[in-house]
Amino acid sequence: MKTFENVDVKSVKEAVGLLQKFAGEKKNAAVVGGGSEYLQLMKVRVATPDYIVNLKTIPGLNYIKEDAGGFRIGALTTLAELEEHKGVQEKLLFLSQAAGEAASPQIRNAGTVAGNLCQRPFCWYFRSASHVCLRKGGEICYSVAGDNRYHAIIGGGPSYIVHPSDLAPALVALDAKIKIAGPAGEKTIPLEKFFVTPQVNARRENILGPADIVTEIQVPAPKTGSKGFYYKARERQAWDHAIVSVATVVQSGSGAVRDARVVLGGVAPIPWRVPKAEEFLRGKAIDDAAAQKAAEIALDGARPMKDNVYKIDLAKNLVRQALVASV
Ligand SMILES: Cc1cc2nc3c(=O)[nH]c(=O)nc-3n(C[C@H](O)[C@H](O)[C@H](O)COP(=O)(O)OP(=O)(O)OC[C@H]3O[C@@H](n4cnc5c(N)ncnc54)[C@H](O)[C@@H]3O)c2cc1C
Repeated sequence: MKTFENVDVKSVKEAVGLLQKFAGEKKNAAVVGGGSEYLQLMKVRVATPDYIVNLKTIPGLNYIKEDAGGFRIGALTTLAELEEHKGVQEKLLFLSQAAGEAASPQIRNAGTVAGNLCQRPFCWYFRSASHVCLRKGGEICYSVAGDNRYHAIIGGGPSYIVHPSDLAPALVALDAKIKIAGPAGEKTIPLEKFFVTPQVNARRENILGPADIVTEIQVPAPKTGSKGFYYKARERQAWDHAIVSVATVVQSGSGAVRDARVVLGGVAPIPWRVPKAEEFLRGKAIDDAAAQKAAEIALDGARPMKDNVYKIDLAKNLVRQALVASV
């Protein structure tokens, strides 16, 4: 492993300042929270930092606070803490479940919410030191001609990674916001706008600049009459990423859908929201036929590759199940 220097920072301001300085010096620097994902990248020499800026030493970034507006979740909150938080379990059970579906207990104890949203793809070509793929500055996405059983069926090209986070689809379905600190100060944006497609940038999964840090996630209080679900299909019962997942939030009243959000995971390079399916559901009573039709609409734009056609039916089934459960 290449030599690097670890810097324990004491404040967000210090972290941003250091990242700015390293970027100016053309040094390769990365922030880490729990380090559970970044260290994997270092081990396989995909990440070769000169500096690691350790955020875990910043006091006060690990919290879950609830008020009338909803929940504010500090960037350093672990997945296990989110999963086990009583208020989250009571009001947003499916968000707790999504956190509990991620990785293994050991990783959930170390891994942070911000780290989960900022994790890099788990594509085997991206994580192979011997493949300089498009996402690492190379010319091609090896999945196109290679083994693409876990790759994108929607929104791909020129890179076909899938976003690996279990939390991201659930949080996007909840209309969460993300707070980012950077050289120009702080900004809060819809989480949905945090992720970028490969058509915008084939080398990055999100909008973070080299000196930007995620500091908080904000989740609005659930609306009256709303129900949320997160369903994940994976190959193994032990830790495994989603091959397909779906998060839905449906708000109903007087027997009909008032509002709906449907977000797919494991099928696209970003958490994939499907406004056309949401629009279809508004004003309807959800029965099997309506849920099936919404599922068809949700997968309408799918363009599978040779090994991942199976994801379409899997995704349709999960959408249908989640919507039927919402009644
Ligand atoms: C074996 C294995 C299985 C896994 N399975 C799943 C799974 O099924 N589902 C799932 O959702 N996830 C899965 N994960 C990912 C796991 O959830 C993440 O490893 C964990 O949440 C990352 O948190 P961390 O704090 O350790 O991040 P780190 O490893 O510290 O960082 C991860 C990335 O996020 C960036 N980062 C971290 N914090 C910040 C911040 N505050 N601001 C800006 N950037 C930041 C880092 O620079 C790095 O690029 C798996 C990981 C492993 C290793």
